[in-house]
Amino acid sequence: MLIGVLALQGDFREHIWALQRLGVEAFAVKSLSELEKVDGLIIPGGESTSIGRIAQVTGIGERIVQLAKEGLPIYGTCAGMILLAKKIVDHPNQYTFGLMDINVQRNAYGRQIESFEVYLDVAKFGRVKAVFIRAPKIVELGKDVEVLASYDNTPVLVQQANLLASSFHPELTDDLRIHEYFVKMVADRHESVR
Ligand code: GLN
Repeated sequence: MLIGVLALQGDFREHIWALQRLGVEAFAVKSLSELEKVDGLIIPGGESTSIGRIAQVTGIGERIVQLAKEGLPIYGTCAGMILLAKKIVDHPNQYTFGLMDINVQRNAYGRQIESFEVYLDVAKFGRVKAVFIRAPKIVELGKDVEVLASYDNTPVLVQQANLLASSFHPELTDDLRIHEYFVKMVADRHESVR
């Protein structure tokens, strides 16, 4: 089982390290041919405009959309969540993969200097430390989207079938439980398609 981390821009190395600490084979995906090898994909934090633009011009974005529709498990953190969203309400013309039935607002928790850490109570995992850095806020979500964790009455960790997204960055903490949860989603799919 091989998990790819989209490495067009952003903090992809931290995700690779988190997966490796879990004993999972992980690698940086920079091309269409590398994308074909993955059983699961993480879209990291960074700048959603840069990641989106590169994904769009290289055709990687279009292929991600096809693979997601075939059931490939994908986890987007922060900028990755923005890219999974159907619409960015404050940048309606910005390119996204449009895969999840969520509308988001970019940088809605403030600027870089206003970054913060909080503990969230997550039904599936217990108490989880969450790091927010210029994070997107989910302002609307569809009925097929399950809320796994909220902060300040706003969903911040959500799942829609094979797609998982968080406003915050678990790869910047020592807590690997959300990555572990995603790895299980990938492992379950891997078993079922073998
Ligand atoms: N503010 C970034 C964006 O809008 C996301 C920040 C992050 O990924 N930490 O793309």
